[in-house]
Formats: sequence, C-alpha cells, structure tokens
Amino acid sequence: MDEFELIRRYFTRPPKRALLGTGDDCALLRPNAGLDLAVTTDMLIEGRHFLPDAEPRALGHKALAVNLSDLAAMGATPRWATLALAIPAADPAWLEAFSAGFYALAERYGVDLIGGDTTRAERRAISISAIGEVPPGMALERSRARPGDDIWVSGELGGAALGLVHPEIAEAAKRLHMPEPRVELGERLRGLARAAIDISDGLAGDLGHIAERSQVAAIVEYERIPRPSVFQKLAAPALERDCVLSGGDDYELAFTAPRAQRAEIESLAAELKLALTRIGTIEAGSGLSVLDARGEPIAHRGGFDHFREGQ
Ligand code: ADP
Ligand code: MG
Repeated sequence: MDEFELIRRYFTRPPKRALLGTGDDCALLRPNAGLDLAVTTDMLIEGRHFLPDAEPRALGHKALAVNLSDLAAMGATPRWATLALAIPAADPAWLEAFSAGFYALAERYGVDLIGGDTTRAERRAISISAIGEVPPGMALERSRARPGDDIWVSGELGGAALGLVHPEIAEAAKRLHMPEPRVELGERLRGLARAAIDISDGLAGDLGHIAERSQVAAIVEYERIPRPSVFQKLAAPALERDCVLSGGDDYELAFTAPRAQRAEIESLAAELKLALTRIGTIEAGSGLSVLDARGEPIAHRGGFDHFREGQ
C-alpha cells in the first residue's frame, strides 16, 4: 500500500459540507454567511499522550474528540477537520481501526475530514485541526467571566485521571480513552454562559485560566464538584482530591453564567440529559480558591504543564 492508496482507503470520504475535500492541494470551504470561524489544533504524541499499544479505534476517537471539545468550549458548531498523521508503517489493521474511531465521531457531529498530511516516523503522532462556526459576538471566550457569575461544570470530574491510576476500573478507563466532547452543550450555552473552558488539564488549572484572563477570582466549593461514585468505594481522599481538582483529560466544560440564568441552565441539563452542577462563584479579585466544607482553603496542584519538570 503506497501513501496515496493509504489516504484514499482510510481517509477519504465524500465531504457533505465542503466544496472540495481530500485529494487536491487544498480543500475549499464556504462558511455560512455571516458566521465567524473558530479554529483549533491539538496533538497526540506516542509516548507522551498514549502508549504504543494504545487501542487504535479509541485513539482515532480521542484525537478528534479533544479538538471538538475545544470548539464546544468556544460555543462553536464543528464543521471540518484536517488530520496530520505520522506512523511507523502502513499497518492495515491499525489504520482501519483508527479511521473507524475517527469517522464514527466525525459523522455523529457532521464533521467532514477535508485534508491532512501523512508521513512515516519512528513514533506515531496525530495532529488534528478542527474548524467550527459561531455567530459573531457569541463565542464563550475565557475573558468574559464577571463578578457575581456562578461557576458550573458538566458531567463528573476526576474519572479520566482515576483511569490512569486504576486502569482496571472500566468506567474510569473509558473516561480516559473515549472522552465525550460536549458539543451540544457548547452550542446551547451561547447566550446563556459568559466564559467557558474545556477541562483538559484539570479543573484547578483550567478555571485558573478563566480567572486570569477575566481578571477575577474564582471560588470553588470542593464538596459540590460532581465526581464518579466509584470514588466513594475507593475511600482514598487524597487520590480523589487530586483526580477531581487536578486530573486532566475529562473534557467536561466549566463555564460561568449570570445568576439570572440558573433556571434556564437547569432546564438545559434536563433536556440534554447531562448533569450541570453549580460549584462556585466568580468574585472581584484574582486567582482560584478551592474551599472545603468549613470554608477553609484546600491546597491543590496547578494544571498539567508539559514543560514543568517531572511531567
Ligand atoms: P501535498 O503534496 O499537496 O501536501 P499530499 O500528497 O500530502 O498533498 O496529500 C494528498 C491529499 O491527501 C491532500 O488533499 C491532503 O490534504 C490529503 N491527505 C493527506 N494525508 C491525509 C490524511 N491523513 N487525512 C486526510 N487527508 C489527507
Ligand atoms: Mg502533504
């Protein structure tokens, strides 16, 4: 199988939303009139983000999911993606499964794969760019939180980090390897939420970004943070705290919204059948504080940083 046969076989499907997809020098896109484009890129590197024997179908899913999650955190509707792939060999079983995982998620959200690049390398690397659309002025920028806003989070936190420590806990391993991008939620938060971020590097670090960019303080009540019930059985409070506050890879959305939107957000949760939980408030000031049940600050690690020593 040569390079072009590989691209044709595994990464070419007729686009539904592009004028021209894979196969030419460039793809041709026509955005819907009057919408802004939201563009994001995320990489997964073998040895850094996944192990050489990682299940390829899950990898195809996750590589796209992390990008769709960024679009969701911006309130954008995903439309197109490109895929740059480095692989050591043209292994049909690996490519078939990877491509199936990628397309299953892409087709669920109407995302066209419109191009990319394929090269041989010692280690696998996957870089995906995703493009979405958002009405002008409606993007959920990190800088938009205001004092008095509630802080909300979708789903449950800490499951993916628990999956790293306890891969035998199926529910946690699934959170780690098959994250679910909160695409519908992101779209529906337009006009309801002010600032949003997806939790890729841990709640503490990611909410810290909102606080910093909005020049406000974020106060979070630890007990309110929703987490998988399996933590109760484990009865390991230090591990639980670390997973819930600083664990990455959950890809839930954290967002701020005016108090006046509480009822609206609660009915959205019911409609989407997705838990949306109020975990704190935005105040004047700076930085992130996490408080225990008695109102005392809880120490926590910051977010994941690839260039910090020891990571
Ligand atoms: P070029 O030489 O112009 O960079 P390539 O030979 O790299 O083109 O790729 C040929 C076509 O296949 C291009 O349209 C490119 O976008 C597409 N393509 C290459 N690799 C991938 C991939 N992994 N997924 C999707 N499309 C790809
Ligand atoms: Mg190329």
